[in-house]
Amino acid sequence: MSRAIAAGESYQTRLDSPLTIRRWLMGRQMEVEPLQFVSSFDKEQEMPAMQRGLRFCAVDLHVHTPASKCFRGTVTPEDYVAQAIQSGMRAIAITDHNTGDWVDRIKEAAAGTSLTVFPGVEISVQPGVHVLAIFPENRGSAHVTDLLAKLDLGVDSRGEQDTLVTRHSIEMVVNQIRLAGALPVLAHIDDYNGAWQVLSGQTREKLWQKAEFAAVEIVNQSLPDEIGRDPYSHVPAYYWSSDNPHPDQNTKHSHLGIGSRCSLFKLEEPITWEGLRLCFHDPGVRIRPGTPYAPIQVQGSTHPVLERIMIQGGFLDGLDLILNPNLNCVIGGRGTGKSTLLELIRYA
Ligand SMILES: [Zn+2]
Ligand SMILES: [Zn+2]
Repeated sequence: MSRAIAAGESYQTRLDSPLTIRRWLMGRQMEVEPLQFVSSFDKEQEMPAMQRGLRFCAVDLHVHTPASKCFRGTVTPEDYVAQAIQSGMRAIAITDHNTGDWVDRIKEAAAGTSLTVFPGVEISVQPGVHVLAIFPENRGSAHVTDLLAKLDLGVDSRGEQDTLVTRHSIEMVVNQIRLAGALPVLAHIDDYNGAWQVLSGQTREKLWQKAEFAAVEIVNQSLPDEIGRDPYSHVPAYYWSSDNPHPDQNTKHSHLGIGSRCSLFKLEEPITWEGLRLCFHDPGVRIRPGTPYAPIQVQGSTHPVLERIMIQGGFLDGLDLILNPNLNCVIGGRGTGKSTLLELIRYA
C-alpha cells in the first residue's frame, strides 16, 4: 500500500510488524549498540545541531566596512550586522583594503546573533591584483595586522586599495596567507583588479600552476572559458560574493550592498571556517551560486521530503528520527538496524 506523500506532511507509524522487531532483536544480540545515533538524540542540548545537518546557507565572503577608505556613508557595527542578517546572509567575511581595523568591532556586534563573521583582508598585490585572506572565526584584527606586517604593509597604508604590496609576488603573498592559517582566495578574477583580467602570458600560467590558492571569486556566472584547458588545466573552487557595492556609486562600498551577490555553501551549524574549507575541497557538491544567478531557496523544495520518523507503541516505542532534507547516510554494523529503518519507511 502506498500513496503520494505531500510536502510537509508528517508521518507516524505503529511498529507491529514481527519482521522488523526480529531484525531489531538480532541487532541487540550482536553486542553492537543498536541505532546508536538515535540514543544520542536523548541529549537535548545536542539535538538542534544534529537535526539540522548540512544545509545550504547564504554567505557573502567579500564585504568592506568603513575601515576601507572607499566606503561611503556612516554606519555603526550593530547596524552593519543587522543589514547583513536582513539581507539573508548567515556568514560574512570582512575583507577591507589592506586593514583589519573593523574586524573586532563587527565580530563583537555579531556575537549572539545568527551571523558568523570571518575575519579577513583584501590585499593589493603588484601589479594591481586583489588577493583575499579569510581567517577562522576565532581570529581577529590582530591576526590580520600580523599578516600585513609580514607583507611589509605599514600603518599609513591601511584601508587604501591603491597601496601595493611591492616586495612580494602573488605566489609569495598566497604562501604567507597559508602560513598565517588563513585561506587565500584570488578576488574577482574576471573583473577589474582580478588576477585573470590583469595578468597574462607566463605570469598568469605560473600563478595558475604554482600558487596554492584555496579558491577564486568570480563576478560572471561561470569561470572564464580557458580555465580547465592546458595550460590552465587546474580548475579551482569558485564562488560569488558581493564586494558590497554602493547602490548609486558602483565603485564604492556601502553596507546596503551586502549580499547583493552571494553564494550558497553547504554548511553545518554553527557555521565554521573548517566547514568553509571543506566546501573548497568539494565545490561541486557544496557550493552553488546565490543571488543574482540563482534565487536563494535554502529551505523548501518542490518534491516530497520525509522529515521525521516517529514510532508509537511496540518495542521501539518513542523512537524519534529527524531526517535531513538533503542526503541522509545511515552507518552501522551488520544487524544494527539500517534495514529496519528502511522497512519502517516502507511500512508506513
Ligand atoms: Zn577588490
Ligand atoms: Zn573588495
